[in-house]
Amino acid sequence: MSIKNIIKEKSEVMGVSVSDDLIEKLEVYAKELKEWNEKINLTAITDDEGIAVKHFIDSLMLLKYVDIPENSKIIDVGTGAGFPGLVIAATRPDVKVTLLDSTGKKLKVVNDIGEKMGISNYEILNMRAEEAGQKKEYREQYDFATARAVAELRVLSEYCLPFVKQNGYFVSMKGALADKEIENAFNALKTLSGKIEEKYNFNLCEAGERNIIKIKKISQIPTKYPRVSAQIAKKPL
Ligand code: SAM
Repeated sequence: MSIKNIIKEKSEVMGVSVSDDLIEKLEVYAKELKEWNEKINLTAITDDEGIAVKHFIDSLMLLKYVDIPENSKIIDVGTGAGFPGLVIAATRPDVKVTLLDSTGKKLKVVNDIGEKMGISNYEILNMRAEEAGQKKEYREQYDFATARAVAELRVLSEYCLPFVKQNGYFVSMKGALADKEIENAFNALKTLSGKIEEKYNFNLCEAGERNIIKIKKISQIPTKYPRVSAQIAKKPL
């Protein structure tokens, strides 16, 4: 089956709507991703069904569950090959997405793929999250911070919540171990003014359990967070 038909079929199963225009863009994304992946290691998932379900539709599930107002500013922390950030940008031309990653060569590829998809509502930011979160151009500048497969929730909260405006959201995409991570993040969320508002649980076709955790930033956080990398690693909150 062509990737176009896989996306159509599986998105219907998962209850996400995908326009013809978006499918065209995602076809370009998949083609470029596979070609680039032969040169640099972007993803372990290389088959059409895997790319369609585990990358594209998984990213789209965030938009199914989380209401993102028009013209929102979003930062995707540890975007890697652009998930979920570039898929969000392709789906929602009204929003502006910052794709942040510490690995510059991945971001160059993501930038190239975005251009080939014909979208321009994104920018790349090659920095470590904990460094960017201390800079005034990025701190508290975003309505949403998103992240998938970057770090455990208590560490990720320190990476992501500093970017979020007061009353904005950090949206964390997790697998089956979400509840355990939430338990371990109790102190981190308290310290960083994060309040879990919702947790959306679903099975991503045959790929298994997924959880989307929507965390509201209820007040400003002390300027000492995020701490430097070594401290976060040595003493996670
Ligand atoms: N979010 C993508 C996805 O779900 O396919 C990529 C996941 S990949 C496993 C993790 C990415 O996070 C890598 O590209 C890595 O460079 C980036 N990363 C990890 N820690 C980071 C940090 N502290 N600041 C910025 N990027 C980071």
